[in-house]
Amino acid sequence: MKNAQKKIKPLSMQISHLSDHPGGKGNSMAREQPTVLVVEDEPAQREVLAYNLEADGFRVSHAENGEEALLLADEVGPDIILLDWMLPNVSGIEVCRQLKSRSSTRGVPIIMISARSEEVDRVRGLETGADDYVIKPYSVVELMARVRAQLRRSRPSAMGETLEYGDIILDAETHRVTRDGKGLKLGPTEFRLLSTFMEKPGRVWSREALLDRVWGRDIYVDTRTVDVHIGRLRKALCHHGGEDPLRTVRGAGYALG
Ligand code: CA
Repeated sequence: MKNAQKKIKPLSMQISHLSDHPGGKGNSMAREQPTVLVVEDEPAQREVLAYNLEADGFRVSHAENGEEALLLADEVGPDIILLDWMLPNVSGIEVCRQLKSRSSTRGVPIIMISARSEEVDRVRGLETGADDYVIKPYSVVELMARVRAQLRRSRPSAMGETLEYGDIILDAETHRVTRDGKGLKLGPTEFRLLSTFMEKPGRVWSREALLDRVWGRDIYVDTRTVDVHIGRLRKALCHHGGEDPLRTVRGAGYALG
């Protein structure tokens, strides 16, 4: 059988596919374009999903089986995962269970896709930690709506939502930030840092986690660069006065509030 001998596509190919995305809005916006990892062994299904997701402005990476999905989830750092239940070797359920038990991928929403329609399977899927569940044949329009709904919750800034923290308001659609009603001037990196903090106030981000989220996993940047940009962000936030809302957590990283 052709499928049984199919080799896993090298990770580097997957990643270059990501950055070469033809429907992208340009490199400066790269990190604001949410990345979807599609895990599906049937090429036709994969293509339909990739086509529709890319048309909706998402970056798409795909895995053909469970092993590849587990590797790519760490390599690519997707914002959301569409996961087929019926996969060769490692099942979608097992992939889901493993992703939800890893600290690096626990927070990534997973939508399980399955041909099984029985209630007991739906319950099993959700018990494994899946955030949503779609049954084949599904409506692509509905699936896209579910993807956006999950992302509005987990990555509101990437979906163009307005975020508020105290007197700070960040409009992800217009890229405007105000504090106490006064406009703040932020560079693109400081803007992404602030939106990351505002999505999860109180969360302590390590420098490595900020590098992954703000700079991207396929770019090498020294962790000290994070400190430089945090310094700039602090300066910008306090430009018109007010307390420094960013907290340095010794040995751990940074947090908002
Ligand atoms: Ca399948």
